[in-house]
Amino acid sequence: MSQTSAKTWLALIRELELPRPVKLMNVCGGHERSITFSGIRGALPPDIEIIPGPGCPVCICPEEDLHEAIRLSLEEDIVLVAFGDMLRVPANVPKNEPRSLEQARAAGADIRPIASPQEAVAIARADPDKPVVFFVAGFETTTAPVAAMLAEGVPDNLLILLAARLTWPAVAMLLDSGEAAFDALIAPGHVATVMGPEEWSFVVDKHRMPAAVAGFTPESLLAATYSVLRQTIEGKPFLDNCYPELVRPGGNATAKRWLSEVMEVVPANWRGIGVIADSGFALRPAWQHLDARGVFPAPVEERRRAGQMPPGCDCAGVVLGKIYPDQCRLYGRACTPRNPIGPCMVSDEGACRIWWSSGLREPRVA
Ligand code: SF4
Repeated sequence: MSQTSAKTWLALIRELELPRPVKLMNVCGGHERSITFSGIRGALPPDIEIIPGPGCPVCICPEEDLHEAIRLSLEEDIVLVAFGDMLRVPANVPKNEPRSLEQARAAGADIRPIASPQEAVAIARADPDKPVVFFVAGFETTTAPVAAMLAEGVPDNLLILLAARLTWPAVAMLLDSGEAAFDALIAPGHVATVMGPEEWSFVVDKHRMPAAVAGFTPESLLAATYSVLRQTIEGKPFLDNCYPELVRPGGNATAKRWLSEVMEVVPANWRGIGVIADSGFALRPAWQHLDARGVFPAPVEERRRAGQMPPGCDCAGVVLGKIYPDQCRLYGRACTPRNPIGPCMVSDEGACRIWWSSGLREPRVA
């Protein structure tokens, strides 16, 4: 069945007789991009919805961490490096202050976008007398290479400002809350490649909900869609692996070893959502000397709207799959990629930006 075309999968899905409308949730920016740009939503029967969920690490990066990165870049004699998506994410600051790393750079801060941890190491090696702070916001797939970089040894002047998160706890929190507005899960293939598909077993075992791991092609996503719909009809949920080319039982043992050697799992704050148990990575004691928060302690200060989404922004609802991007009243009007109000319109993995980039420019609400 791995060679089955998207057309055939769609025909198989259309033949299914669903007992009720079914809403699926995906939790991966790559999935959302493929679903949106391939037109899968419009091709599915109207009683099947796919809503994007918590799949964008930039979108949920705590506002406090972003503010801290901006502050460090402006007040300390450092180089700050971050993956490019982070540079335009807005923090909540007074109007006359830089509200993003991009604006801090325009104000004179030495901020450099990077595409890999190796670039951070190279920048630190090139200027060994200057602290280089690597602002790391990402899920497991981003965090594992950072852990590998630290395990292999980094220059003394490379520090880490860590805002790394695990994906599954947000889904667990949603399901445990009883407020999950979806009936089946399309689990993220890239995370499962690293951590193993078993991480998502709780969806089936604890919540009796159909689930399937998917890759990034329309064919793999439609295979996962077909699988969870069949599971729904048959009333027999199980965790299917529709990305067997790369997702293996147990995941990537080497990457998991790096993660557990360097990081510990802690409760962590998600922007606009709050603290989620076991959802964040923190440096283990052996690497604490590289923690930028310890080297440059943040001053105690009162800030308006600290930790919150920008006023009027519904990113928290979008990230949790409670609303579609175009149900935010700012979508496509006050908020566009050129003038983003919230993080979901900034990141390439943000659902608002993906939808807008695909040509969906109008808000659903009047
Ligand atoms: Fe936030 Fe903009 Fe998306 Fe609305 S459209 S949820 S303001 S990012």
